[in-house]
Amino acid sequence: MSFKLDLDTPSYKGAVSFNTGLFIGGKWVDPVEGGTIDVVNPATGKPITTVSVGTAKDVDIAVDVAKKAFKASWGLKVPGSERGKLLNKLADLIEAKADEFAALETLNVGKPFSSSRHMEVNLTLTALRYFAGQAEKLKGETVESSEQKFTYTRREPYGVVAAITPWNGPLLMLICKLGPAVAAGNVVVMKPSEFTPLSSLKLAGMINEAGFPPGVINIINGEGSTVGNALSHHPDIWRISFTGSILTGRKIQEASAKSNLKVVTLELGGKSPNIIFDDCDVAQTAKWSVMGVYINMGQACIAGSRIYVQEGIYDKFLAAFQEETKAWSQHTGDPFDLNTRHGPLVSQIQFDRVMGYIDSAKKDGATILTGGERHGNEGYFVQPTIITDTRPDMKIIQEEIFGPVASIIKFKTEEEVIEMANNTTYGLACGLFTRDGARATRVAHALEAGTAWVNCYTMFDLNAPTGGYKQSGFGKVFGEEGIKEYTQLKSVHVNLGIQI
Ligand code: NAD
Repeated sequence: MSFKLDLDTPSYKGAVSFNTGLFIGGKWVDPVEGGTIDVVNPATGKPITTVSVGTAKDVDIAVDVAKKAFKASWGLKVPGSERGKLLNKLADLIEAKADEFAALETLNVGKPFSSSRHMEVNLTLTALRYFAGQAEKLKGETVESSEQKFTYTRREPYGVVAAITPWNGPLLMLICKLGPAVAAGNVVVMKPSEFTPLSSLKLAGMINEAGFPPGVINIINGEGSTVGNALSHHPDIWRISFTGSILTGRKIQEASAKSNLKVVTLELGGKSPNIIFDDCDVAQTAKWSVMGVYINMGQACIAGSRIYVQEGIYDKFLAAFQEETKAWSQHTGDPFDLNTRHGPLVSQIQFDRVMGYIDSAKKDGATILTGGERHGNEGYFVQPTIITDTRPDMKIIQEEIFGPVASIIKFKTEEEVIEMANNTTYGLACGLFTRDGARATRVAHALEAGTAWVNCYTMFDLNAPTGGYKQSGFGKVFGEEGIKEYTQLKSVHVNLGIQI
């Protein structure tokens, strides 16, 4: 089954098309016993189309096909340069349809088109080419401890790797797992979020053209409780890479423990602190902080949602932050409009969750300074929201909201703010703004987070690994550490003449 939709929007005119089945062994197939699921446009709340959903039976078939492909035509049999060439070819194919991919992300996720096109798709291409380049750079080491013996290490792929991705950046998340796994010589069975499968299905349609042998990349759309659960319990999968909520991450680790002790990477949620010291550049800081919390409608794992402001500039910063929030809110609307910065949340469930957090803040006695309401009459739009007068024990300060909600909190001293910032179970990212270089370094080191931003927010470098501390997960994406996640290290000892 395939689907084609003619779009005539302010930013994209033309057809978007994709297959709606399961992609297994280089072919589009129907699920053995699964059904279909509606995919919804979050800007209207109306269905876009229906797509197939698999079950555990499809997972078994895909893993079997993948295992055979690994043995017959992939792994270290194929030189790293060749694996990289195919990944680069896939990047070229995506690039040729970059606008269509961006349109699909906007249609399905509600991401503003300019952000889908210039951030999501462009970053996907840069990342995929980076991973392609890594394929031929993986290497082991020689260990020279005596003339009698030669020892070396080599990096071997696991075989079948499973990847499970969330809905907030479907294409990028998929590539951030597919890229390093395949570059390292693994074969993959991937499950996109059932809410946002469209760009993944579009990508599946390019795998054969890129030249991958059948079975190297398999994509099964389906629900977490069926397909995701089957992948995490599967005895022939030795590595699983997951991005999503802590709740699901816990289930995946449990499944690994109960099945075959597969190695798990967990990229989980965040509740990141953003600390504003009184010597910062207020105008710049307000702009970075607004982007840091409202980016992707706040549906970003790294969102800087706890904003701590030193008392000396609290009023001045709050006024600037309110002003910037107002400017951001003025660009709320049709995500296909090129001026739109703020679109809908992804689903009714997410809308209810975020509004529930705003209600809990009101009940707990916090002040909703700006926003806090639904925007418009259709779709899942929530206004950018500023909350003040919070207490550290409130749900909105302790739990990830994953929506456009900023809590602004006053502090006095550096010691006090470090204590407050570290007082959660999360540890994904943090930001801090100051002109004092020594303080910047000191505080960046003291904060319990896998990424720290100084005088900026949400900036990435593909050579710098990202990943969580504490319950934000473990394992890294990007950098040398990122691709090594998908390899197992073997030591080989060769006797050059020792007699016994
Ligand atoms: P989620 O945990 O609900 O779902 C993520 C994926 O897991 C989906 O594909 C889902 O179908 C699947 N799943 C659900 N139940 C499962 C089960 N029992 N077994 C196996 N798979 C299952 O998360 P979400 O709502 O899609 O995404 C939002 C979360 O993702 C947020 O917490 C966010 O912070 C996190 N996230 C983290 C990062 C990071 O890099 N740390 C990046 C993006 C998103």
